Amino acid sequence: MRYLSEYRDPTIAKKLIEDIKRLSKKPVKFMEVCGTHTVSISKNGIRQVLPENISLLSGPGCPVCVTANGDIDKAIAIAEAPDVIFTTFGDMMKVPGSYSSLAGKRADGADVRIVYSTLDALKIAKNNPDKKVVFFAVGFETTAPTIALSILEAHRQGIKNYFIYSVHKLVPPAMAALLNLGEVKLDGFICPGHVSVIIGSKPYEFIARDYKISCVIAGFEPIDILQSIYMLVSQVENGEAKVEIGYKRGVSFLGNTKAQEVMEEVFRPCDADWRGIGVIPESGLALSNNFKGFDAVEIFDIDVPPTREPVGCSCGEILRGVKLPYDCKLFGKACTPENPAGPCMVSTEGSCAAYYRYGESS
Ligand code: SF4
Repeated sequence: MRYLSEYRDPTIAKKLIEDIKRLSKKPVKFMEVCGTHTVSISKNGIRQVLPENISLLSGPGCPVCVTANGDIDKAIAIAEAPDVIFTTFGDMMKVPGSYSSLAGKRADGADVRIVYSTLDALKIAKNNPDKKVVFFAVGFETTAPTIALSILEAHRQGIKNYFIYSVHKLVPPAMAALLNLGEVKLDGFICPGHVSVIIGSKPYEFIARDYKISCVIAGFEPIDILQSIYMLVSQVENGEAKVEIGYKRGVSFLGNTKAQEVMEEVFRPCDADWRGIGVIPESGLALSNNFKGFDAVEIFDIDVPPTREPVGCSCGEILRGVKLPYDCKLFGKACTPENPAGPCMVSTEGSCAAYYRYGESS
């Protein structure tokens, strides 16, 4: 394992930038599908040091941002049900649904609690046997194994008052859905690092093979990102489309097979609704039949009014790569991290929040 400082070394960065400039001839659009990459690109000013013919777009890589309004409305409806303690990671609290947010409902008296792990939620369930404790399971393949473990643990301990509301999503089907939409002509994907630690590089093979789109899995430091861009440019300039791992210290071809086994035991693929994209077949995770008793959807009669999107918010277009944050009229004016109008400004991994925080403008 090399030292982290090597992945932030300005001399190596300068050399990579020169190599990219020398190699890159064609105009290309690359999309990152990971909120942590979005933040790293903005924070390290990577867009600004690339030649003008390379555009970087942010895709549906922030789990908070891609959670559809209808799913947030349903989570709020569950939180308002009698005898419920609703638990969530903190970043979902302020995300506006159609009519309110979890933070708003907590202010109105609902018992909504922030937890730092699923095991915290399980502990709350154990300590409150007369309540129904629901965990809002938001995230990609990265968080799904830990949530699956909490279900197995609840099952093992015979805890009957712990439930999850799963809006989990899978990244590769969303990448294919974007390509199928055809709104943006992409030349390559900077594939997510954390997700790929779990799933490996194999699940992206169909993107390269069937869509002829270059894929490179990247780590999170500036050198990692520049290296992945160099690898993508090399593929494009050589007329190749393949899957490469630029983040070899974390990712393998098959990924973490133990984590995959746990996921497969507890979850099954299902259709999922993505903000800005709509329903993508087999792009979500629902509890499998053996664990249906832990599924909040089975326990609660969830009935919500028709959804409403935040007026003037372009999060949907931004998540599809059609617009950039500063193309939204509300960006930095009616919408700021202190007073967010849409989810891409709420989440620290949202592209609007990243552009705003690091002063990226047109
Ligand atoms: S700036 Fe705010 S309102 Fe505009 S797209 Fe981003 S989050 Fe939505």
